[in-house]
Amino acid sequence: MSWSLARGPYKLRRMADTIFSKILRGDIPCHKVYEDELVFAFLDIGPLSFGHTLVIPKEEAATLDQLSDESAAAIGRVLPRLCRAIKAITGAEQFNILQNNGPMAHQAVFHVHFHIIPKPSVSQGLMIEWTPGKLDPGEGAKLAAALSKEIGG
Ligand code: AMP
Repeated sequence: MSWSLARGPYKLRRMADTIFSKILRGDIPCHKVYEDELVFAFLDIGPLSFGHTLVIPKEEAATLDQLSDESAAAIGRVLPRLCRAIKAITGAEQFNILQNNGPMAHQAVFHVHFHIIPKPSVSQGLMIEWTPGKLDPGEGAKLAAALSKEIGG
């Protein structure tokens, strides 16, 4: 059982209380798709399309920025394999990966999760409203430099 140390009311929930922790503990059932030492995947109970799957770390982190490099790497390692399996079984050639962080960003369960959402047709799967702005070259250069410095890369 652990607490998130980050600020913000939604991050103060006790991590062990999320529905995904209950699934990991086996307290509530799920349709398991995959498991290894660090990663667990199961079918979404409210699928946007046939094959909609959730991939979660066993580590109890509320949002992606709080996740350890080790768990992140483990998810990254298996994601393409899960996508290939979902493509093969559903027959959907196209798909989206969705990862929400925070209530405003549509996160409902505060345990990191990646959605794999098959896109079998225009009217099925994830619908995105995308309203792009325009990147000013000067601002872009400043922002990229600041981010790069912050990352230390
Ligand atoms: P998000 O909005 O990104 O936090 O997505 C949470 C997802 O968890 C939703 O797509 C829900 O349908 C899914 N979900 C919630 N409870 C369960 C459950 N018990 N088993 C499987 N999926 C669940």
